[in-house]
Amino acid sequence: MAYTISDACISCGACESECPTSCITAGDSIYVIDADACIDCGSCAGVCPVDAPQAN
Ligand code: SF4
Ligand code: SF4
Repeated sequence: MAYTISDACISCGACESECPTSCITAGDSIYVIDADACIDCGSCAGVCPVDAPQAN
């Protein structure tokens, strides 16, 4: 499974540099996670101010 970023994302960018596999990138309106590269570490959720990254 992989984390996904919900619509709550405010595109602050804080999570991008925290991801050990660099699988978070800016999307059209919110940041997005490449599910194939996500290792479920939870680092993105730890730094997000609005709890947008969700474990699935
Ligand atoms: Fe990256 Fe870890 Fe978040 Fe997956 S859970 S997107 S590997 S920081
Ligand atoms: Fe979006 Fe949270 Fe990442 Fe900021 S830290 S870009 S609000 S998911």
